[in-house]
Amino acid sequence: MQHTAYIALGSNMGDRELHLLRAVAEIGSIPGSRITGLSGFYDTEPVGPVAQERFLNATLRLETELAPAALLKELQRIETQLFRRKRTVTWGPRPMDLDILFFDDLTMAEEALTIPHPLLHERRFVLAPLAELAPDLVHPLLGRRIDDLLATLDAPGEVTRI
Ligand code: ADP
Ligand code: MG
Repeated sequence: MQHTAYIALGSNMGDRELHLLRAVAEIGSIPGSRITGLSGFYDTEPVGPVAQERFLNATLRLETELAPAALLKELQRIETQLFRRKRTVTWGPRPMDLDILFFDDLTMAEEALTIPHPLLHERRFVLAPLAELAPDLVHPLLGRRIDDLLATLDAPGEVTRI
């Protein structure tokens, strides 16, 4: 069975653009999966309690045969193997962060995997690239379109499409 997932990518260490491109290539080679949409890359202000470098963010659409937990496992494998990511500071600097935003219209709330991603509607660095790919996608819990969520967003954190 084919599913449609949206994934957020973010990097704020080293060559951020190269990291995003390598992650896109690696996600595209996940078994039973293919990328059917990729946003532009956005230079974004870090949001949250930790002072750190600016991020480069993007989102992509993935058609996949994997179940949500199996997809997350693949994304975490890429974070740790390809980018040698160490999980130290929560919300701290990282060469690559890969988050599942949506998975069809599935809703689930487990600590290991919450879908839709619980903060996506508050983050300009997620909504801006996502609105390029899927402006009319409706958030299954909020019942609102992505372009609407972005247009009415009242949150700091400027983003610039590079
Ligand atoms: P963050 O992305 O919040 O900055 P991490 O990437 O270190 O932090 O993720 C912390 C944990 O979040 C992971 O161990 C993962 O199991 C969990 N998690 C929950 N929901 C999701 C999701 N939708 N996508 C990715 N990870 C998730
Ligand atoms: Mg993450």
